[in-house]
Amino acid sequence: MATHHTKVLIIGSGAAGLTAAIYAARANLKPILLAGLQPGGQLTITTDVENFPGFPDGVQGPELMERMQAQAERVGTEVIYDLITEVDFSKRPFRCVSDSGDEYFGETVIISTGATARWLDIPSEVEYRGFGVSACATCDAFFFRGKDVAIVGGGNTAVEEAIFLTNHASSVTLIHRRDSLRAERVMQDHLFANPKVKVIWDSVVDEVKGSESPKSVTGLRLRNVNTGETSEIDVAGLFVAIGHTPNTAMFKDVLDMDAEGYLITKPDSTATNVPGVFAAGDVQDHIFRQAITAAGTGCMAAIEADRFLVDHGKIA
Ligand code: NDP
Repeated sequence: MATHHTKVLIIGSGAAGLTAAIYAARANLKPILLAGLQPGGQLTITTDVENFPGFPDGVQGPELMERMQAQAERVGTEVIYDLITEVDFSKRPFRCVSDSGDEYFGETVIISTGATARWLDIPSEVEYRGFGVSACATCDAFFFRGKDVAIVGGGNTAVEEAIFLTNHASSVTLIHRRDSLRAERVMQDHLFANPKVKVIWDSVVDEVKGSESPKSVTGLRLRNVNTGETSEIDVAGLFVAIGHTPNTAMFKDVLDMDAEGYLITKPDSTATNVPGVFAAGDVQDHIFRQAITAAGTGCMAAIEADRFLVDHGKIA
């Protein structure tokens, strides 16, 4: 078991963490970045990113993250493929322990652990996860070529994924619990114009139906939330796109968070309630949740960590 020391310890390797690393490394702070469970973060499970500035023809999510990591390493970041499971922020340097048992000490810590896709959490959904139930259309759409599928959710993700699914599936039924979508109007227009898409309003999935051999989804039982009426549809796949939960479990009772578990940062700052601990990206942003805003707050966190180190006599 090894012990690592750094002025800036960055937990998480999505757009926020890697941008923080680029800035911290360029400030000569020799950051260590822990890549975590999903190196590259959520953008590694998307395809086309068309709204990240500087890529007029779009860029693939995984490629964008590889480029960010290459840039972070080139300017002096040490990227370690390890997962922090325990933190002690009661004194400086802050101590973090990974699942390999290694100890990491940081004079400052930048938390950029992101958020994870939410599930419906009904028993039949849990049973068929990986057997026709998925939370990532861009990862799994290919398996549903020529089949009928459904997607749950009314936000930008659900609409974007529904449209993406039409490239593979023969039909896509979007199921939403209300009578209007929260997705951007322009995306809704694309959705409604697509002949392969059907929308079922005011409804939730009560049960995922399936067969045992081979284990697969065969349909859904839906319930209209206004009338209570139930109905069934035949589909081979169910995609769940109902938002995200911030990855903050290990900071419970240590850092201030809101009711949904997002870390609370000071206004116009990435500072948490523990001086020297900063939070950037989706872990502290439940409003914008974009790659570019995550990168922006990552930049802020690195600059604030640098200032903190200067103020505390850790660098000249
Ligand atoms: P959102 O939180 O925006 O939407 C979640 C959707 O799921 C809502 O329609 C919500 O319904 C529904 N929902 C939540 N819980 C349940 C449940 N238990 N059962 C049924 N339905 C449920 O999440 P998204 O992932 O869509 O988007 C997150 C953020 O990322 C947003 O800010 C979005 O704009 C952004 N984004 C931007 C993209 C882009 O710019 N290209 C692409 C994808 C995402 P209700 O509406 O009733 O609350």
